[in-house]
Amino acid sequence: MHLLYLDDSGAAGNTTEQYLVLGGVSVFEAQAHWITQELDRLAENINPGDPHSVEFHASETFARRSQPWRGLSQDDARGTIKSVLDVLANAYDSARAFACVVHKASFPNRDPMEIAFEDLCSRFDRYLRRLRANGDTQRGLLILDKSTYETTLQQMSVEFRTLGTSWGVIRNLADTPLFVDSRASRVIQLADHVAHAVFRRYQSGDTQYFDRIARKFDSEDGIIHGLAHKELGNPHCMCIACLSRRTGEGRQPED
Ligand SMILES: [Zn+2]
Repeated sequence: MHLLYLDDSGAAGNTTEQYLVLGGVSVFEAQAHWITQELDRLAENINPGDPHSVEFHASETFARRSQPWRGLSQDDARGTIKSVLDVLANAYDSARAFACVVHKASFPNRDPMEIAFEDLCSRFDRYLRRLRANGDTQRGLLILDKSTYETTLQQMSVEFRTLGTSWGVIRNLADTPLFVDSRASRVIQLADHVAHAVFRRYQSGDTQYFDRIARKFDSEDGIIHGLAHKELGNPHCMCIACLSRRTGEGRQPED
C-alpha cells in the first residue's frame, strides 16, 4: 500500500497570509517504519530522557516559543527543521513529496483547503495510475492530521466516495481518508515539515527548507507532477511547478 500523509500550513482565514498549503509525503508502507525510526533518533538528541514526548512541528520549532524549542538559537531551530526534512531527502526514491499551494485571493468564493484536497487526491491517484502502468498494482490511502481542517475535510471524507467519483479519482484509493493524531505519527510530523517548507517558499520567498526536498516532488520526464501552484494572473511564474509544466507543454496534456 502507498500511504500519502498530509498536513496543512497557513490558515485559510488569516488575511495576512496570501497562501494556504496542503502537502506531505507518499511512502510505501515499509518506509513509514524507517521514517519513524529516523525521526525517533532525532528526537533522542533533543530530549534523551523522553524522546517520545518530542513532537516535530515545524512552525513551533521555527517560533521557538514552546518546549522543547524555547531557548534554541535561531540557527539550531532552523537546523532541526532541516534535519527532519533531510530524512525525506535521504529516503528511498519511492518516498515522494506532494503539495498544493493555493493563492487564496485567486479563489475568493471557494475554500482553499477544499481546492488543495481535491487537487492532491487527483494528483495522488494519477501517481498510482502511473505506478500501476509500470506493474505496481498497490493501492493508496490518504492519512491526514486530525487537526487539519477537521470539520471541512472530515465532512469531505464522509462524502469521499461521491466526491472521489465526481473527480474521477476513486479508482486507485483503497478507502476513505484516515485522520490521525500528529503526536502519534512521525510521518505526519514529516508531512507537516513538507507543508511548512512549501509555505515558507511561497509566502516568504524563503527557499532554504524547500530546497532540501525540491527533488523529492513526484516528477516524470521533467514535469513536476507532485507540486501544484494555483494562482491566477501569474502566467510567467518561475517556480519549479509552473516552469516545469510550461517547459513540458505538449508532452503531458493531462497536467
Ligand atoms: Zn508557480
